[in-house]
Amino acid sequence: MTTVAFIGLGNMGGPMACNLVKAGYQINAFDLSDSALKTVADAGAKKSDSATAAIDGADIVISMLPAGQHVESLYLGEGGLFQKIAPGTLVIDSSTIAPETSRKVAESARGSNIRFLDAPVSGGVAGATAGALTFICGGAERDYNEARSILEAMGKNIFHAGNNGAGQVAKICNNMLLSILMCGTSEALALGEKNGLDPKVLSEVMKQSSGGNWVLNGYNPWPGVMENAPASKGYQGGFLVDLMSKDLGLALDNAVTNKAAIPLGSLARNLFQFHGQQGNGKLDFSSIQNFYRDSE
Ligand code: NAD
Repeated sequence: MTTVAFIGLGNMGGPMACNLVKAGYQINAFDLSDSALKTVADAGAKKSDSATAAIDGADIVISMLPAGQHVESLYLGEGGLFQKIAPGTLVIDSSTIAPETSRKVAESARGSNIRFLDAPVSGGVAGATAGALTFICGGAERDYNEARSILEAMGKNIFHAGNNGAGQVAKICNNMLLSILMCGTSEALALGEKNGLDPKVLSEVMKQSSGGNWVLNGYNPWPGVMENAPASKGYQGGFLVDLMSKDLGLALDNAVTNKAAIPLGSLARNLFQFHGQQGNGKLDFSSIQNFYRDSE
């Protein structure tokens, strides 16, 4: 049986680890939060008292942490896991972090003869729970090929974007595009409604016309248009405004470093950051629709 150390059992990592238990992996689970750890232990994972205890005997290490600083402090430096993980072990980091940070971590892994893949995900908590995530991997082809089977136990689409860091680049490009589509769709719906159009009818028209896009197809931001969308549930669940702001911050930093022009991405970052600061950070990102609507 393959033993997996799974570190970071929050909204995403928790259900991902549970899916690995279901698929027959032995999971050594660790999280700083006792309640997160308990949920996964109740599903059949083995509780570990520390990250160091979790990697004991592990064939594969997976981390799913909030941001770059958490990943760096877990693996790098004095006392970091790269000083303790057995050479040859495959480490998969699925956190969304800056590509440069991910490359730095990969470089340090190489120094200890540890294999490292960045494998950020798309699909949100619903995708994590359903085992239907998209994984976008960066790293050596051999490591990607080896990781595929375990990633398939948590996801439906597994991509190899290129070398280390490439998974993170593809992930931030995708989320930047998604944020722009969400703002554009919200803007168009609000303009139509100001003119007396029914947002449901307008959505149907645009869906079948040249403005059709992923947001209109499955994630409509206007309340009541799509029964199961977060917009129809008070913008609860889904993908938080704060997380979208974080990802757009990564895109912006990357664009500055690489001297890339991202005028629409910068504007989207500005809108989501402002929207979050107005007390909406814990709402689904489709709540940006309210930015375009008159307050009641
Ligand atoms: P979360 O805050 O719910 O979970 C993170 C977990 O990591 C927490 O339980 C925390 O206690 C734990 N943690 C932090 N530092 C730790 C350490 N040193 N050792 C052990 N545990 C530690 O976050 P999340 O929503 O699960 O997101 C995780 C990552 O996935 C983020 O990078 C996020 O951007 C990305 N992501 C999230 C979503 C989403 O919809 N939530 C979608 C795609 C990608």
